[in-house]
Amino acid sequence: MTGVAYEDWLARADRLDPYTDHHIDGASSPGEGTAPVVSPRDGRTIARVASAGAADVDRAVGAARRAFDAGPWPRMSPAERKAALLRWAALVERDREELALLVSLEMGKPISEADGIELRAVIGCLRWYAEAADKQLDESPRTDAGSLALVTREPAGVVAAVVPWNFPLTMAAWKIAPALAAGCTVVLKPAEESPLSALRLAALAAEAGLPPGAFNVVNGPGEIAGRALGEHPGVDVIAFTGSGEVGRHFLRYAAGSNLKRVWLELGGKSPNIILPDAPDLDAAADTAAWGIFFNAGEMCTAPSRLLVHRSVTGRVLDRIVARAEKLAVGDPLDPATEMGPLVSARQHERVLSYVEAGRAEGARLRAGGEGEGLFLRPTVFDRVEPGMRIAREEIFGPVLSVLEFDDADEAVRLANDTEYGLAAAVWTGDLSAAHRISRSLRAGTVWVNCYEEGDMSVPFGGMKQSGHGRDKSLHAFDKYTDLKTTWITL
Ligand code: NAD
Repeated sequence: MTGVAYEDWLARADRLDPYTDHHIDGASSPGEGTAPVVSPRDGRTIARVASAGAADVDRAVGAARRAFDAGPWPRMSPAERKAALLRWAALVERDREELALLVSLEMGKPISEADGIELRAVIGCLRWYAEAADKQLDESPRTDAGSLALVTREPAGVVAAVVPWNFPLTMAAWKIAPALAAGCTVVLKPAEESPLSALRLAALAAEAGLPPGAFNVVNGPGEIAGRALGEHPGVDVIAFTGSGEVGRHFLRYAAGSNLKRVWLELGGKSPNIILPDAPDLDAAADTAAWGIFFNAGEMCTAPSRLLVHRSVTGRVLDRIVARAEKLAVGDPLDPATEMGPLVSARQHERVLSYVEAGRAEGARLRAGGEGEGLFLRPTVFDRVEPGMRIAREEIFGPVLSVLEFDDADEAVRLANDTEYGLAAAVWTGDLSAAHRISRSLRAGTVWVNCYEEGDMSVPFGGMKQSGHGRDKSLHAFDKYTDLKTTWITL
């Protein structure tokens, strides 16, 4: 929890004077047009930001291209890149409260989480990849005595990172930090809902001394600015986090242009399995509730399908409903708030349409289902059947669907009965069952007796239609480097 009082956050919000231009070639740069940034707190327009057409995107890619082809960044020693990224991390830490305020205002995340979770993650991520930059080794395989083979990792070129609004800075940092550490140059396109924090981050990159063109930010609508990046011949790599629908667009853009490589982190409908022998059923229930309501359920990893053994459903569900009813929903700038509004009117409407679908298809509403403005009370449905839309489709809101099972095999079948494969969890005190079940689950991350735990050192990403490629960990370098073989005949 931040040490700043509610009134102070309100006063700071009143004095808001954010950066609003694109950041191109090391400087702020006006756009072809402008677009409003509307805060979901109260529906007020808090800024107008530059909005790109294809010409702005072309300037940003041009700057990144020149910086890659002829600029200092890819040619610096890894230790020099490390030093620059560490300076950047220190500046983000210096301005952490200001960045947290921007995140909270633009997308509605509770300020205590914007500061305590999001900014902590961003600073940690920048430092982790800074430190990793000069600790990579290349290979020299043993060949015959008359030759020398070198296998080196070369930076992959210009990376366009296109990210969503739910963790606007963390999703960006997971891509920017390893790409820059590897020697790539970057154009970031934040979501239309959350450009302000990204623009502030870019100004800090310039202050930290990153050379012009190494890191650029363009705002703009996905169908225009995102598409222009996807189709641009000067972009070598797309690193995307967002919906499956837009992920498919990027594959098409790449196929229709220069076959740039496309890395996709997409959605999920993650199963959270509670077996009756869970070491602590109350902890399992509390974590299930925390997991689905955290960040108003706007989480790709949200444990949105609770699969619970029929013998313990009553106890687990009563506890989840009690927590749902107690959750502090309110102004995200109040440090006591645990859940803010949904990000936008469009998202609010979308989530409410699922609440309607749940009712219409015969699930039982146990909590929530309504709220004022863009708020929605934590919502719980039980008696959910596997074929219902609320059991199959990603809602991306604070809506839990509870399904029951009779044995572990049925739980695994239900868990895997989805097009997604981002994350899953199992709660059991039986070590063998935990291993057996976790091996059977097709998901990029499986948590045992916990949820959302992790560390920069472990990879994150999906299987099936949740995407491919991994953010975080040293494996992220695979996305931003090409292997080169040099064969020397001695
Ligand atoms: P979205 O796919 O609509 O938008 C994501 C980004 O793509 C935005 O920057 C947007 O401007 C851009 N975009 C939109 N249309 C485009 C187009 N036609 N061409 C090019 N770019 C376009 O997703 P969203 O609503 O912002 O975010 C929610 C989705 O993101 C959910 O499906 C969620 O699961 C997913 N997500 C995944 C992860 C993960 O790591 N797997 C993390 C967070 C969110």
